[in-house]
Amino acid sequence: MLIANARPKILVVDPQHDTKETLTTLLGEIYRPVEATSKEDALRQFRENPDIELILTSTRLPDGDGYALCAELRAEQRTQSVPILLMAVDDEAPRFSEAFGLGVRDFLRAPLQTPLVLQRIKTQLEIQFLRRQVEHASVLDGLTGVKNRHYFDETLKREWNRARRNRRALSLILVDMDFFKQFNKMYGHQAGDDCLKLVAQAMARTVKRPGDFVARYNGEEFAVLLPETESEAAFLVGETLRKQVEALEIENRDAEEVGGHVTVTLGLASLVPTADLHEDRLIEAAEKALDIAKNAGRNQIKVVSSTTQDT
Ligand code: GH3
Ligand code: MG
Ligand code: MG
Repeated sequence: MLIANARPKILVVDPQHDTKETLTTLLGEIYRPVEATSKEDALRQFRENPDIELILTSTRLPDGDGYALCAELRAEQRTQSVPILLMAVDDEAPRFSEAFGLGVRDFLRAPLQTPLVLQRIKTQLEIQFLRRQVEHASVLDGLTGVKNRHYFDETLKREWNRARRNRRALSLILVDMDFFKQFNKMYGHQAGDDCLKLVAQAMARTVKRPGDFVARYNGEEFAVLLPETESEAAFLVGETLRKQVEALEIENRDAEEVGGHVTVTLGLASLVPTADLHEDRLIEAAEKALDIAKNAGRNQIKVVSSTTQDT
């Protein structure tokens, strides 16, 4: 089956003991069903089980109805990626428009027919799996596997605004490969690509705190965004990145100035954003720091931390 987890967890919300028993037994052979008997119970189970991958709910619940449950679930960001299927009891006319407006993916009608229920669930889980794959691929750089430029641009805007609201520092490190033209010339473009991949992955392994990430910024330049990080802490991260790349000991024979190995130069900028500043200021400052570090002899990190761009 084309789904991420071998036995996905499914939340079954049904106050009727009989149906629930049958459904749970039926689903238990393929999935891991979690039961809830009311709206509040369902919300609690959903919050307590972050690995729930699909919700199957009756329209009739003792403390509200299935539609009200969908409306409340929709308010939680995670539900956008968890398909909801509504089960309407047979004497009731389903409110299709309302349900689909609330993000419901599909309808089932009691009495339930086993093959139909299983097929509908399977289809929704497959769609969800493919969606996740596409979303994942759309934020990654095809060559190196780190985040792509689009992801960087979007996240920078978001983090910039968040840092401004919280009056916290946001740090950006721009990383540029040293003498990479010479590397390509000496070993070929394919070897250059392989080298970029190794360097990117070594850096991604180093940047592990949630919210921090490495992105391919432009050609052989990378950007590392560190939210809620002051200049001093970011400097240490940058220095670790530099050492990790050096430790790969990839030969770059013509790069004598930096010891004949692949190295990187880094420019760090840290700012506490204010309303009158645009996020481009952070990039400009990091570019300036990178420029200073290149001119100072490469394979090192320099920092520009004030809004006036003094070093
Ligand atoms: P510097 O130390 O001043 O940065 O020298 P440099 O040779 O690295 O100079 P520069 O940054 O201007 O050149 C970047 C080179 O990186 C030029 C380009 O051919 C190479 N490059 C950019 N993207 C890729 C890529 O995806 N694959 C390969 N193999 N090379 C790339
Ligand atoms: Mg460059
Ligand atoms: Mg370069």
